[in-house]
Amino acid sequence: MQTPATDTRTHALSLTPSGLLTLLNDWGEPGFRARQMVEWIYSKRVFSVDAMSNLPAALRLRLSRELSWDLPQIISRLDSADGASKLLLSSERGLIESVILRYEGRTSLCVSSQVGCRLACSFCQTGRLGFVRHLSTAEILAQYAIAEQIVQTEGRRISHVVFMGMGEPLDNYDNAVGAVNRLTGKDAFGLSVRNVTLSTSGLAPQIRSLATDVRAALAVSLHAARDDLRTELMPINKRYPLAELKSALMHYQQVTGDKITIEYILIRDKNCSVREAKDLVRFLHGLRAKVNLIPFNSHPGMPYDRPSDEDIRTFQSYLAERSIPAPVRYSKGLEVSAACGQLAAKKLETLTSIPKRNDVLNRNLILS
Ligand code: SF4
Repeated sequence: MQTPATDTRTHALSLTPSGLLTLLNDWGEPGFRARQMVEWIYSKRVFSVDAMSNLPAALRLRLSRELSWDLPQIISRLDSADGASKLLLSSERGLIESVILRYEGRTSLCVSSQVGCRLACSFCQTGRLGFVRHLSTAEILAQYAIAEQIVQTEGRRISHVVFMGMGEPLDNYDNAVGAVNRLTGKDAFGLSVRNVTLSTSGLAPQIRSLATDVRAALAVSLHAARDDLRTELMPINKRYPLAELKSALMHYQQVTGDKITIEYILIRDKNCSVREAKDLVRFLHGLRAKVNLIPFNSHPGMPYDRPSDEDIRTFQSYLAERSIPAPVRYSKGLEVSAACGQLAAKKLETLTSIPKRNDVLNRNLILS
């Protein structure tokens, strides 16, 4: 958020609809004024108080003085031919990434929940940046606000939000859950609970809490179903090994009745042989889950590669023959580094190195 360090004002997006009612009530305003504001923000998705034309000028002035309405600045925007827009946003102490993904009939937004991440998954650019800080609920919602402003000019609305950007949302539990509640609240943005996905690397205690705290879709980044391999790829597995993760998922499913999505990145010579497919089938036994297979997106500085098409087919067929649907998902926006943390990592590299000739991506970053 572009809020100066000295700005101690409450951000408008940190107020729930009932919080707005209370505030305006405390100011002696009639109840319908708060309802007008709720309509501007949550129905019309208007995030500038100056544009709230049916509010009296004196109230708009007070709102702009006493609340912060700043949204993060877009440091760079990279659009790819397949409909992805990667946004790099300013924030206090670091940069935040959001990605807009345009499809026929729907528009998704991938949001970040932290600046950096402390979980250090070995295949992830964000993990290499280390942890800087948690984002507030308002900062998570600000990413949605900015994306809405962009896609509204194209006649679209953000219909899906996935917490798959920088950071582990369940490590920033209260703020992530607060943002989900606002995105799905009937009196707030009102997105379908099926269209808002919390994605976790497997924080078992928080998965148990989620079952009763919030309604949203749950995705788990699994990437290996054998403890030694998963710990190598995702150190969090040492703290919450597969048996504990599975028990938490079973509990979640018993309480919510919801299907779980398992995300599985396929990495060449690492986790995509028939042996790992067997491990995965064993792990899934007793769970109602669908599996998304994502071929690793090779990039400089990472010790991993994309598997061959044959490896992908063999792994997928092994699951399909055991009645486990596992579509292969290809990342949109490869040309703009749309995997989590890649753009922020590139930006840091760019800022500390001399650009190469013909390096269009880096040049765009510098000029932006
Ligand atoms: S994959 Fe997710 S949890 Fe793992 S380091 Fe990257 S951002 Fe953090």
